[in-house]
Amino acid sequence: MTSANSGRDGANNIDDLNKIIDAIPVMAWSTLPDGTADFFNEHFLNFLGMTAEAAYGWGWTASMHPDDLENLTSVWTTLISSMLPGETEARLMRFDGQYRWFLFRANPVYAKDGSVTRWYGTNTDIDDRKRAEEALRRSAAFLAQGQTLTETGSVWWKPATQEIFWSDEAYRVAGYPKTQQPTVELMLSRCHPDDLTDVGEMVARAAEEGANLELEHRLLMPDGEVKYVRIVLQNIGPDRSAPEFIGAVTDITRRKKSEEQLRRSEMLLAEGQRISLTGTFSWQVDSDEITFSGELRRIFGLSDGTVVDFDRITERVYHEDLPLLAEKMSNVRAGSDNPDYEIRLKVGDQLKHVRVVGRVIKHLDGTNECIGAVQDVTAQRVAEEARDKLRSELAQIARVMSLNTMAAAIAHEVNQPLAGIVTNASTSLHMLSANPPNVEGAIETARRTIRDGNRAADVITRLRVLFKRGTSAMEPVDINEATLEVVSLLTPDIQRHKISLHTELFETLPLFKGDRVQLQQVVMNFLRNSIDAIGERSQLPRDVVVRTEFASDMAIQLSVEDTGCGIAGVDPDRLFDAFHTTKASGMGIGLSISRSIVEAHGGKIWAKANSIVGATFGFSIPNTKTDGVSLASRS
Ligand code: ADP
Repeated sequence: MTSANSGRDGANNIDDLNKIIDAIPVMAWSTLPDGTADFFNEHFLNFLGMTAEAAYGWGWTASMHPDDLENLTSVWTTLISSMLPGETEARLMRFDGQYRWFLFRANPVYAKDGSVTRWYGTNTDIDDRKRAEEALRRSAAFLAQGQTLTETGSVWWKPATQEIFWSDEAYRVAGYPKTQQPTVELMLSRCHPDDLTDVGEMVARAAEEGANLELEHRLLMPDGEVKYVRIVLQNIGPDRSAPEFIGAVTDITRRKKSEEQLRRSEMLLAEGQRISLTGTFSWQVDSDEITFSGELRRIFGLSDGTVVDFDRITERVYHEDLPLLAEKMSNVRAGSDNPDYEIRLKVGDQLKHVRVVGRVIKHLDGTNECIGAVQDVTAQRVAEEARDKLRSELAQIARVMSLNTMAAAIAHEVNQPLAGIVTNASTSLHMLSANPPNVEGAIETARRTIRDGNRAADVITRLRVLFKRGTSAMEPVDINEATLEVVSLLTPDIQRHKISLHTELFETLPLFKGDRVQLQQVVMNFLRNSIDAIGERSQLPRDVVVRTEFASDMAIQLSVEDTGCGIAGVDPDRLFDAFHTTKASGMGIGLSISRSIVEAHGGKIWAKANSIVGATFGFSIPNTKTDGVSLASRS
């Protein structure tokens, strides 16, 4: 590198001065009054990696950063024309091609007449400061951005001097313009009136005692909006008596609102679970970790603190249902479909019926979770059991009532042959005791006695067959035969009401599986209702037709058509409701029980109004084949 001063002549002391200038770790330079460079110290030339000749004049500007050249030129031009000292910042390229920031300072030297004779200047390397400034600017921007994103403002407060600093975000949270001078009063004036006393006291205490502060309170904004803020202040002062707080104010409105919403929906869920008696569970199938909702704990009789595990669960499952639970659980483990079943629990001395519905979720990490709901259906089951019990009790009542009717029928049926037997026996006695004895007549009379005796025995046999079974017994039923038995039992009643009864029985109906006695009860109920319905009318016709036939779907159908009072204006479905009756002494259970019986046979019961007079009641029962049983030929 050539010295900036080589080739220049001058005294020794000037040489010494030049050496000093070359040696100092500052870039020094001088220019002519018009700004043309005529000197660079060695430090400067070394930095630029230029010879003095190359740098002189305006040659050095080749090392200027192109973006800074315009500004530097304009500042330099202004200085030259104003002839005043000045400075500016610009980047210069080092010999290795790297740019660094410099502070260019220029000082004019004046002649006696006030004109500028030369400019002397220095360039100070401010690159590190510039970078630090840049980093600071960037981190301030990051901070501001972070504060905006987290809705958290910074605050600084020195109670002794009442000095307060708020960051931009703190202003935004408090809803004040940045021009407003922050004060404690300004801050408290935003406080919700209901929180003001507490907050005011806490802030005053913090200022007095220098203790750290952490609080959440509401702000009431001028437009009536309520915000929630969380304030954290930390004393960074030298001691507690001279506190200096830095801290943060965070807008937690959104969090508070979603917490509130969550709390509300949790409450609703819990309420819903309580009302519907439904609890929910989650079962991590791989780790057997189980979580129960509050309601499910209640259903299982598990207190809040109790850990829920399979031991606790199986302890409460009714012993007869344990195999079912085990099967359903192993199905879930095996990955089969979603469970839906009912089991019983034994909680204390209470037997509960619960329905379990689950769904298996396969998580991305390969684990399986079964989530589901358990509903306490005890009340339903108890009601169903009570209903079934009532139904069977009603059936029993109906049977007893039918028995009363039948008892009368039996008496009637048996009385006739008995009276015949008594009459014939005495006739026969008379004939034998006559002189001469009328043996032929007596034999004939005895024959009639035997016939009547047999008739009475027949009636008894038939009734025994009809009532020997108390419970339901499925057997091949010949509906025609069963119907005729009922008709014959009710014949006296029918005759008494002057009703003419016809039977139109389809001769080749197959046998089907059913409870003969119960079906006879249905037929009897139809007939009794027809008798009652006709009984209410005084005029003709007084007909009942009992019909058996194939229904359209090959089901076996029986119907009783009458010319009674009819069912016009009555909802046919209501007729079969229990306790629906139009009779003064009726109970309204006959048809309801009949319906249960028919439905238990998989059949349908129905009623329809006849086109001219009366009604027809009937049922049809699906024709289930009874292996090997075929219709016996009937005469
Ligand atoms: P109830 O003991 O009252 O007769 P049922 O269940 O046998 O009870 O019948 C209910 C009601 O259905 C009767 O009260 C009557 O109003 C009506 N009903 C049933 N059969 C007939 C019919 N053949 N004709 C007209 N109404 C009938």
